[in-house]
Parts: sequence; C-alpha cells; structure tokens
Amino acid sequence: MTNLILLGPPGAGKGTQARMLTDQHGLVQLSTGDLLREAVAAGTQAGKAAKEVMQAGGLVSDDIVIAIVNDRLDQPDVANGVIFDGFPRTVAQAEALDELLDNKSMQLDAVVSLEVEDAAMIDRISGRYTCGDCGEGYHDTFKVPAKDGVCDQCGSSEFKRRADDNAATVAERLRAYHAETAPLINYYDAKGVLKRVPAMGDIAEIGNQLSAIAG
Ligand code: ADP
Ligand code: ADP
Ligand code: ZN
Repeated sequence: MTNLILLGPPGAGKGTQARMLTDQHGLVQLSTGDLLREAVAAGTQAGKAAKEVMQAGGLVSDDIVIAIVNDRLDQPDVANGVIFDGFPRTVAQAEALDELLDNKSMQLDAVVSLEVEDAAMIDRISGRYTCGDCGEGYHDTFKVPAKDGVCDQCGSSEFKRRADDNAATVAERLRAYHAETAPLINYYDAKGVLKRVPAMGDIAEIGNQLSAIAG
C-alpha cells in the first residue's frame, strides 16, 4: 500500500497518471478538483462557495478543501493506498494533510513533482476533454480515442469539456500555481520524500516511471 502526492501545474498530467495508477495498482484517486466539481453540481454549501472561485481560476479556501479531504479519507477504500491529485495546493493544506494523516495513522510514501514547461500547459488544457460516462481523459491532438468519437474504455460517445479550461482562466491558474503551490516542492524536498519526474514526454513513458515509484 502506497500513499503518494502528484504535484504539478494545471495540465501537467496529474489526472491522466493518477487514473493509470488506479488501474495498475488499485490505488484510490483523490482529486480535490473532481470532488469540488461534484459539490458544485450537487449544490452543497461547499459547492456554492467554491463555484465562482473555480470559474475565475483561483484557489478555493483551505478550510473547504481540507474538510472535503478529511471526509474522503474516512471512507474504507483508502486503505488500498491514495493518490492525492491536485491536493495539497498551499503550504497550509500540506500542514493540514500532515496532521490528517497522523490522526488516521496513514503515512506519506512519496511526493512526485511532474516537471513541465508552462508554455506547453496552455495547449494541453485547451485541448482537454473527458468521457462523460467513465471519466477517461483525452486530448484533441495528444490523446485521441482509437475510434473517432468513441471512448476507448467504455464505448460511450458522450464527451465533455470543463468550463474553466479556457485561455483566460488558465493564465490565472498558472499564476496561482507558482504563487501558492510551487513552494510545496521545497516543503517536501526538505522532508526527504520528493521525487522529480520529467513530464514533457510520452504519457506511457511517464506512467512507467510513476509505476516504479508506486511499487
Ligand atoms: P492535470 O490533471 O495535471 O491538470 P491532465 O492529466 O488532465 O492534467 O492532462 C491535461 C491534458 O493533457 C489532457 O488532455 C491529457 O490527455 C493531456 N496530457 C496528459 N499528459 C500528457 C503528456 N505527457 N503529453 C501530452 N499530453 C498530455
Ligand atoms: P487542474 O488539475 O487542471 O489544475 P483541478 O481539477 O485540480 O484542475 O482543479 C480545478 C479547480 O478546482 C482549481 O482551479 C481550483 O479552483 C479548485 N481546486 C482544486 N483543488 C484545490 C485545492 N487543493 N485547493 C484549492 N482549490 C482547489
Ligand atoms: Zn468512457
């Protein structure tokens, strides 16, 4: 059982790689972005507070995000190991996670920093779409389904794009990443758990490196 964090800017490939690790190692993907989008869709208190911030590309408040993670970690499937995707995103969240893991007698095995170039992230995010039925991720040019318009995983032809995946919002999300999240690289390096993985290359190749880290 391995618990790991995937760190990286929007578009780095966190979701894509987390999904592959879920398939190959039975780990649970804990994506705060997905959980927040579910909360927005369900119209919960947290969802109402998060909606506009997400549309603008800002960061949702630490309190809301930490409460969502705390709840998710109380479900029994996390015993299989967790991949934190998109969390923590601030030093305050990282400190809260240390405490949560302590309280739940869980340990952090590795933090992977996906090392990418900002300039390429605009194209990755602008071309991103997902299967509406199974959630498999695709890209207009970098990851197309084998059969045009049909999901490789489930055969669905319902696809969707995120409302915040537009050029204006991406700039703000990258800014938030450098201001708030990039400091976590040093935070985890100082703890001796950081692994840097070059992530500009082939999706499968990067997957092999992560698979080796997940054990
Ligand atoms: P994140 O979760 O970090 O925001 P995603 O995993 O959603 O990133 O990837 C963003 C987009 O880039 C998706 O459309 C995905 O298919 C594509 N993508 C992911 N990894 C790579 C890669 N190594 N090379 C090219 N495109 C990629
Ligand atoms: P991406 O991987 O493309 O950056 P996510 O799905 O992780 O996108 O996040 C989408 C949005 O949800 C973020 O821009 C932010 O508004 C919000 N969000 C997700 N995770 C967090 C977090 N840990 N802290 C604060 N806001 C978050
Ligand atoms: Zn599908």
